[in-house]
Amino acid sequence: MIRRDDVLRELGLAPVWRRRMRPLATTESSADVAPDVDARRARIASLDYDALVLDIAACTACTLCKTRNRTVPGVGAISAQWMFIGEAPGADEDAQGEPFVGAAGRLLDNMLAALALDRTDNVYIANVLKCRPPNNRAPEPAEARACAAYLDRQIDLIAPRLIVALGRSAAARLLDTDAPVASLRNRIHRYRGTPLVVTYHPAYLLRTPADKSKAWEDLLFARRVLRGTFAQSTSA
Ligand code: URA
Repeated sequence: MIRRDDVLRELGLAPVWRRRMRPLATTESSADVAPDVDARRARIASLDYDALVLDIAACTACTLCKTRNRTVPGVGAISAQWMFIGEAPGADEDAQGEPFVGAAGRLLDNMLAALALDRTDNVYIANVLKCRPPNNRAPEPAEARACAAYLDRQIDLIAPRLIVALGRSAAARLLDTDAPVASLRNRIHRYRGTPLVVTYHPAYLLRTPADKSKAWEDLLFARRVLRGTFAQSTSA
């Protein structure tokens, strides 16, 4: 059992957590988005969870299907109140088919444990992309669009009470902004009606331990939002 003190020490609050991604750029690139976007989106929006996972596994909507080993749909409790959304699978996730199982994932798990949250119990974790971009590059806009129906269906099926966007790519996808994480923190945003808060990506925090304390503040803020104890107008 991980103790909260251990977690806080790990987070650097007894002393410290980075972004490995660039924001979604505004230029088009390599993804071959399926031609009948609306029909595909409508079909995906009708899938139940198991069918969604199977659909993701068979997806060829963008070129990442050619280089992936495994698709990485998501992990956690379907009934979760918290939903964490990262950027894209890395090498470990591509090998195992589960999000956040590498070094950044261990940090994320420790952050969750500090809030009595656990991916095997009461949170759901997903990514903007379900396939690994080569060399861990940031998602391209067309890739994020090709994957958007999957993430949206996941959000609909989980129906979380709160979404936490981990890092700039998730914030860019969910809030349609290229603003830096620092300017998006400490506010209640909304994604299709669900409250959303933004914090740093665990990989960024591994490279920038000095910001771990800010991420901890963000999680406490998120918990207050979820508990409904934070009186603030929403930004969208
Ligand atoms: N980074 C992410 O954004 N997602 C993962 O699943 C792993 C690393």
